Parts: sequence; C-alpha cells; structure tokens
Amino acid sequence: MDVFEKCARLHPVMELMDAGFNVYFREVQSAQGAEAVVEGRTMIMLGSNNYLGLSEHPHVKASAIAALEKYGSGTAGSRVLNGTLDVHRQAEARIARFLRRDDSVFFTSGYMANVGVVSALAGRNDVVVLDRHAHASIVDGARLSLAEVRRFRHDDARDLDRVLEACGDAGKLVVVDGVYSMEGEIADLPRIVEACRKHGARLVLDDAHGLGVLGRDGRGTAEHFGLEEEVDVVVGTTSKALPSVGGFAAADQEVADYLRYSTTNRPFVFAASPPAASMAAVVAALDVVEREPALRRQLQDLTRRVLHALRRMGFDTGRSQTPIVPITVGSMELTFAMWKALSEEGIFVNVVLPPAVPAGSCAIRMTLTAALAEEHVERVLDTLERLGARLGVIPGRPGLAGEEVGRKAG
Ligand code: PMP
Repeated sequence: MDVFEKCARLHPVMELMDAGFNVYFREVQSAQGAEAVVEGRTMIMLGSNNYLGLSEHPHVKASAIAALEKYGSGTAGSRVLNGTLDVHRQAEARIARFLRRDDSVFFTSGYMANVGVVSALAGRNDVVVLDRHAHASIVDGARLSLAEVRRFRHDDARDLDRVLEACGDAGKLVVVDGVYSMEGEIADLPRIVEACRKHGARLVLDDAHGLGVLGRDGRGTAEHFGLEEEVDVVVGTTSKALPSVGGFAAADQEVADYLRYSTTNRPFVFAASPPAASMAAVVAALDVVEREPALRRQLQDLTRRVLHALRRMGFDTGRSQTPIVPITVGSMELTFAMWKALSEEGIFVNVVLPPAVPAGSCAIRMTLTAALAEEHVERVLDTLERLGARLGVIPGRPGLAGEEVGRKAG
C-alpha cells in the first residue's frame, strides 16, 4: 500500500471549493484593518485577530521597517546559538514588565510557545490536565511531553477538581485557555485557580485572545479577574492584539531560565528565532497598548454593543463575552449559504465546522477590531439581520431560503 494514496483522494474541503464555497485560503491582497482587499474585492474584515487594529499603526510599521534595515530579513539560527538578537531580549523584558513577571521567553510562534512550555514543564511522572476544548497547540505540547494526559469537561472547575483528586501525588500541570478561540468565552479562572490551589497543581494560562483585549490595562484574563498572582505561567501570542508573529511564556525567573536552557523545550531550541522586524513590531505595539488605552475601551464597548444587538435580533451567540463573536447556524449547508451571502455583500467572516463544533452546530465566526468605523458596524448589523431573517438563521424565525436549504440538508 502506498502511503501517498490518501493524497489522491479529494479532500471534502476541495469538494466544497469545487461547489463554489471558497471558504479557505482566500488570497488577501492588502493590509487587514477594518477592510481588506480579498481576491480583488474590498471587504469588511471580520476574519482577522488584529483586535486593536495595530498592524497598520504608524509607530508599529516604522519600528519594523527600521529593524529590517538594521538587521536584515532573518536571524538564520536558533535562539540558543546565533539567533538571539538584542531586540529579542528587549521584547522579552518588555513583555515581562508589562505582565509583571520576572522574565519571559520568546518563541517563533504562539503555537510553538504552547508546545514548548507544556512539553518542557511536564515530565515522565507528571500528569497534564487539559480542558476538553484546549487549543490544538496545548494538546500537541501534552502529546510531546512524556506525561500522562487527562481531560476535564469544558470550563467545568468541579470536574477539574475531580480529575485532580484522582491524580494523587503525581506532579500536576493544568493548562487552560483564557479565552476560548471558537466560542469567545472567558474561562472560569477563579474556580480553576481554586481547584489548582487545593490540589497543589501548577497553572499555565494560554491567553492568546485575552492579551491586549481584556483587563483594564490589557494584561488579559488574569487581570480581568484580579488573579495575576495565582497563575504560574502566562503563554501569549504576538499574532493577534500585538500584530506580528511569535509567542512567549512569562513566568518567575527560575521557570523562565529552565525554559531557556532545557533541551526538553524543543520548539525553542531546534527552530530559528523570529526576525528582528517582527520583534520590533511587538515592542512598538506594546508601546501603543500602554499609551492608547482608549483603543481597548473602544473594542470592549463595541463588543458589548454588537453582542447585545445580535442577541436582541435573536441570533445564538453562545456565551461569548469577547470580540470573538460566533453565530451558531446549524447545518453545514445553511452555514455555507450564510457565509456565501455575507461574502457577496462584502463581509469577510470565517466558518466553524466539525470537529471544532458538534455536527449540526456549525457556526459563522466573526472577530471584532477597534479599527471598525461606525459605518462598518451598522452595515454589518443591518446585513446580518436581513440575511439572518431571509435564510432562517435566527432561531424561531425560519426564512424561505432557510427552509429550502434546511430541507436539502435533510
Ligand atoms: N492559542 C490559542 C488559544 C490560539 O487561538 C492560537 C492561534 N489561533 C494559538 C495559541 C497559536 O498562536 P499563533 O497563531 O501565534 O501560533
């Protein structure tokens, strides 16, 4: 049997694309702010994680350009050898200061940060305890570690308590997302912290979507709950509110040094470091996060307004409290119909399909950004209400086309 046989089969996504649902790999031909040019058309961009709109901020761009001029395009090596530039250390110190930690360790992506942190901190005799909805990078880190992996029910601290109890005396590493990236829910950190404390477990918080967005000063989910001292390691990404590429772990000095020097932290040791321009963009974006708190307040107000408006219209937006706004549509066919209609109206959204959600609970996923102007918000809300009613996406308000699509979905 040829191992490549699987490659010859038509992937379901390719079948969808053949049917005119070009949902993935759309080519973006511009910066991604409130709007973006996508395959030749200007669209309202609700599909990026550029939460504060900083990827086009003049200070961020100028800093990245200056670093590119000074250091060239790449680092050509691992952090451990030739790939630590002074800008890596500056960014690590800035992130640590911002998050009130001793130190931070910078990785080439947020994905690699989770894989490295979890696999380096959990060893052969330990147990990694994960939420059932944990991000793929956390799951992969747990797989790479030699530890046993156990799961608890999504955001259920009582179930976490039960799982931790059953771990006995083993070393326990609990890893949770601060904000769940498909649902936009904020984790129940107070009760998770309580369970960890009760059982002597260490807690890693992946705050990819909380950083820069939640908390009065943008320090994320732990700040939002006033629990910063209770979290042992904060993992973050610099591909979202801080619009660059990279990821980090912020912790006490001992833990940071261990992550820096241990060869069990394989994504850190065995991969090239991020280029200087990316690091300069991170530092500059942190400057803006600290200097322009109004951007975050604007995003928090926008989030409340949009969630309230959509819920009043009757859309099912689940338990989201963040700029991640999912709309549960139902069948895959109806979800694609809604996606296509929005796309034709010039609104870029993403679709969420199984296995990310249960079959029959497919969703449209939007992310809000502080870059959106009033006219964008109004257009998005008006269009969603009109299309939602027409297609029957709003529960209890079956529309004509929705019935047709629903029957076809069968
Ligand atoms: N954690 C979470 C919760 C995420 O949503 C993501 C990215 N979507 C990551 C980690 C990985 O971050 P990056 O894209 O920077 O690799």
